[in-house]
Amino acid sequence: MRFRPAGLERRFRLHSERRFRGTRRLALGAGILLYVLFGALDRVLFPDDHVTLWATRYGFGLPPLLAAFVYLMRPGPRRNAEAVLAGAVLAAGLSIVAMIALVPAAREIYFAGLILVSMFGYTVFRLRFWPATAVSWLTVGCFEVVAALTDYALRSLVAANFFYLAGNVVGMMACYALDWDARRNFLLLRTLRRERARVARLARHDALTGLLGRRAFLEQLESEWARCARLGLPLGLLAVDVDHFKRLNDSLGHAAGDECLRRVARALEEATRRPGDAAGRLGGEEFALLLPGAAHADARAIAESLRARIEAECIPHPDSPVGPCITVSVGVATAEPAGAAGPGCEALLRQADRALYAAKRGGRNRVVALPPPGLARDRSA
Ligand code: GH3
Ligand code: MG
Ligand code: MG
Repeated sequence: MRFRPAGLERRFRLHSERRFRGTRRLALGAGILLYVLFGALDRVLFPDDHVTLWATRYGFGLPPLLAAFVYLMRPGPRRNAEAVLAGAVLAAGLSIVAMIALVPAAREIYFAGLILVSMFGYTVFRLRFWPATAVSWLTVGCFEVVAALTDYALRSLVAANFFYLAGNVVGMMACYALDWDARRNFLLLRTLRRERARVARLARHDALTGLLGRRAFLEQLESEWARCARLGLPLGLLAVDVDHFKRLNDSLGHAAGDECLRRVARALEEATRRPGDAAGRLGGEEFALLLPGAAHADARAIAESLRARIEAECIPHPDSPVGPCITVSVGVATAEPAGAAGPGCEALLRQADRALYAAKRGGRNRVVALPPPGLARDRSA
């Protein structure tokens, strides 16, 4: 069981490492505790051999388990967590095989410990199917070698094998199901995240033109206001409105109107050159351009080139009193942001709107730039 392509498998493993970090620490801690407590069974069942069993348990089996625990408990990503846990399963399994080899009396009973250890590998350590299976069957192999080399009573050996091998088969089934579920959950989560990002993107952008929608544009305006205030930069805002758009709809139809809006939107998008620049559709045939860092003269120049660019594109408008092509009127406002974004942005928007209506009143197809408070009123066609 593995994802193709390899990149997806890699991401799944990274995801699993994060997802199961806590579970694995807890499971290994509990496993070590059980392993240590089973020392009491060594003492009770095998009073004559408990020293050998303890030497094997605490001298050979325990150190690798503690090392694995220390590795898992360290902060930060544990990239080799799976390999280390598989190593812990192997170490614990081999220590029990060693006990079986060294203490003949333990043979009848301690194969059960092997089943217990392999269950940790198959289930609570959340290893993938193949590593878990490999490490458990490697232990089975070692057990069989020891069984062949020692005088294991046939009756006990048959019983041990029945339980041990069946335990492994059950463990493999559980591990397969867990691995399958982990992979399915990983894919579902991925789809969910992508879908959420897509919905968020759709909610921010206007469906017809792809520009920022009104709400997203106003949010952007507020955050750029705050950024410009922090950096001591000016902030320019252009309000752009298509001239006699209603007449275009009435003469050429709604579809031609929509196409015109898309083309005007593209021109606005092309005018966003610097990071932080943003174009939005505020509604109907009204657009806005946000120009952080643009002082009054820069904003007015950008507005004028945008107006000229749209006029030059000459999107046909047979019923416009202004000329044969689509034109726009542009209102420019600038500010030196300071203080709270909310009221500042509202004032800037109002100022751009006033400039836009001045451009409409002035005959359309023109730019009116209202200077920042304190300067003389200035218009340019
Ligand atoms: P002015 O030069 O004064 O701006 O005149 P105007 O006709 O452009 O302005 P008005 O506000 O009277 O008309 C805007 C029109 O825009 C009315 C509306 O039907 C149309 N409109 C609004 N949204 C859309 C849209 O998404 N697609 C199309 N095709 N038309 C739209
Ligand atoms: Mg209009
Ligand atoms: Mg309008």
